[in-house]
Amino acid sequence: MQGAFQDETGCRAITDSSGSGFQVQMKGKVVVIGGGMVGVCCAWFLLKRGWQVTLVERREIGVETSYGNAGVITRGSILPLNNPRLWKSLPGYLGNHSAAVRYDPLYLARHSWWLARFLANARDEQTLRAAAALNELMTRALPVHKALMQEADVLPRLRENGWLKLYRHAERFDSSAYERRIYDHFGVSYQIVEREQIQALEPALQPIFNKGILVTDTASVDNPGAVVQAYAAAFVAQGGVIRQGTVTDARQVGGEFVVSIQQGVNSFAEHADQLVLAAGPWSNQLLKPYGWQLPICYERGSHYHYLPQAGVLPHRPFYDVESAYVMTPTDNGVRVTSGSHLLDIARQAEPLQLQQVLPRVQEALPLASQPVSPLWQGNRPSTPDALPILGALPGVPGVWLATGHQHVGFSTGPVSAKALAALIDGEQPEFDMRPFSPSRFRF
Ligand SMILES: Cc1cc2nc3c(=O)[nH]c(=O)nc-3n(C[C@H](O)[C@H](O)[C@H](O)COP(=O)(O)OP(=O)(O)OC[C@H]3O[C@@H](n4cnc5c(N)ncnc54)[C@H](O)[C@@H]3O)c2cc1C
Repeated sequence: MQGAFQDETGCRAITDSSGSGFQVQMKGKVVVIGGGMVGVCCAWFLLKRGWQVTLVERREIGVETSYGNAGVITRGSILPLNNPRLWKSLPGYLGNHSAAVRYDPLYLARHSWWLARFLANARDEQTLRAAAALNELMTRALPVHKALMQEADVLPRLRENGWLKLYRHAERFDSSAYERRIYDHFGVSYQIVEREQIQALEPALQPIFNKGILVTDTASVDNPGAVVQAYAAAFVAQGGVIRQGTVTDARQVGGEFVVSIQQGVNSFAEHADQLVLAAGPWSNQLLKPYGWQLPICYERGSHYHYLPQAGVLPHRPFYDVESAYVMTPTDNGVRVTSGSHLLDIARQAEPLQLQQVLPRVQEALPLASQPVSPLWQGNRPSTPDALPILGALPGVPGVWLATGHQHVGFSTGPVSAKALAALIDGEQPEFDMRPFSPSRFRF
């Protein structure tokens, strides 16, 4: 059994599997705010580097965005949504009836700067730049996850059998040409599959798909939240500390950071030398004392779980491209996830896109009429250049940002965290972090 114990002098005694131990001198104290995939991994990598780490989460670990996602880890995620193809799809979104993208007009009007930048980036040159930066994260995402899964004993949750992008009408397949060009450019492995191959790969599906792409550089998990929780448990077993409570304020006082935490009627404070803000879509609330607001918009997504009528699950996740939903096999039936709804994080909204796609889902895989889980909704924190925000907060030494992971935070959370931990230690990570720097938003 591996383990760790931290004494009051700031030394950590580490025991390896042979039972022999050694001591490491701790570097100082870090508080990480946010117990999603990104925050948990930041906390764990910093602990591994000899920092004394406290992770603060207001709810359970891994129950927000890092729980409700589709659990796909694919190199194919290098293509930003705002690529030149968007201009073709845009007229179909304007009526606000699309299962892929909906929006609250007032919310978008209030975020017109974000929208203008988002659309301005939907051109070749910027798409290639964003894809190159995302490629640095995505090529490392699976190896880093696998090492953590091994250590946290959750490797059996990983499936390394690709994912499918499926087209009902073969002629619509041509719309994937741009995406395939990007795959070819960056060496993402995939196969074009025809109707019979799709049936052979996924016998549980109805024979309604005529063409598709099997992105082979892809893995997926059967319960994303359980993976985050296993990483958090390993972090604690190795000497990390988790405090449950809502951070109400985190600011510099003298030479340290004071993090004020509310837990029910109790309040307490944590003190730290370094602060990592990894609160996903809520990160901006914590930046107010620093006079910063990140240009993030929220892309709401929803899911339900269902049991297939025939009791047989697909082997891998698939995206029904023309219907705009993803179905992922999980340890509790299939998870059907919706497209994006741009609206304020605090606003209640019916899951209209999910309701819209359910008849289409039934055509692909007949499901029991009632879901086996309550409705889940979460918010992807999205930047106008489709890149996460990783690095030092300009002008405030000791504050680090790890947020803005939009559609790819489950897969890239660990590699982002590993790179950020290197930056905090003053080292150069394995790849160029400049495209992710918060300073790109300084005007
Ligand atoms: C429908 C859907 C499908 C997706 N599919 C995929 C996919 O297949 N693959 C992929 O890679 N990504 C996917 N994503 C994106 C991915 O889920 C997110 O990018 C990722 O989970 C973000 O992780 P995070 O840790 O930044 O945020 P979160 O998981 O939201 O974690 C932030 C945490 O901070 C906590 N917090 C906030 N404020 C405070 C505070 N004041 N005090 C204390 N704690 C606080 C919250 O409670 C929360 O637990 C999907 C997203 C959605 C919505």
